[in-house]
Amino acid sequence: MKYTCPHCGEKTFNPIQKALCGSYRGMGKPCPNCGKRCCNGMTGIYFQSVVSVIAFIAVIWIYLHATENIHSSIEIACIIAGTFVLNFIFNMFFGKLVEPIRTMK
Ligand SMILES: [Zn+2]
Repeated sequence: MKYTCPHCGEKTFNPIQKALCGSYRGMGKPCPNCGKRCCNGMTGIYFQSVVSVIAFIAVIWIYLHATENIHSSIEIACIIAGTFVLNFIFNMFFGKLVEPIRTMK
């Protein structure tokens, strides 16, 4: 399974490389074929927003229901790590590669 570069139209990104390109707000990664930078499109941003809201609610819930501070901080760390993993997996399999909005300085 390969993803198409928005610049040269070649299928140059595998799912892991695509996920490593990061979000639409980021700098992206260069295409192995044409060297122009690519990043994940807006769908990744929408997904990230939804996951962040759910994670935020979960953290608040744990905070309010926590009886042992050490235990709840581990749970909160797991939720934060989990949101990163979810976003990474989403970028691996969903959405498409686009040109980054930011340009190299
Ligand atoms: Zn390319």
